[in-house]
Amino acid sequence: MPLVPLLPIFHCFNREYFDCALTDGSKPLVAVRWSDGRLRKTAGLYRRGPTVIGEQGAEIVLSRPLLELLPLSAIESTLCHEMIHAWIDLVLRLEEGHGPNFHARMAAINAAQSKFQINVRHKFPVPTKLPKWWAICPGCGLRFPYKRIVAGAACRQCCNIHHGGRWHANFELIFQPIGVEE
Ligand SMILES: [Zn+2]
Ligand SMILES: [Zn+2]
Repeated sequence: MPLVPLLPIFHCFNREYFDCALTDGSKPLVAVRWSDGRLRKTAGLYRRGPTVIGEQGAEIVLSRPLLELLPLSAIESTLCHEMIHAWIDLVLRLEEGHGPNFHARMAAINAAQSKFQINVRHKFPVPTKLPKWWAICPGCGLRFPYKRIVAGAACRQCCNIHHGGRWHANFELIFQPIGVEE
């Protein structure tokens, strides 16, 4: 599924909610992009400084793994949230995080439309820990993702089919680190 292009939404929000303060002419003061697969702990971020690549020196990054399958409203609310951070930093030139200016602008934007609602925290499910193990059934060959090794776990389906639901060592799951064999 192709990712939603962010720049048109940025320009639209910039006009409607920021009085065009986040552009110089038609040029955005902050770069806007999707992350690669790595930004998994937060739905979006704003940052400025020498580590940011690109001529603006400031960027908004939205998490592809967390947002790409969510409805457009989740993308819009995350982008708008980060645009408030960019506005406070680049236009107001304040360091306040989720302070009074953030709350005032967020409330104004939430009241102005009903397509999306901005929150102080991005309220999207963040996968806490990725599974590290495949548990493979030696009987049927099915594999199940596990976060940790569970000693003695057996394939429920095979135990049901072959042993009337009783645990049997023939179907004890074999744990293999994910990523090793693929
Ligand atoms: Zn924030
Ligand atoms: Zn099995």
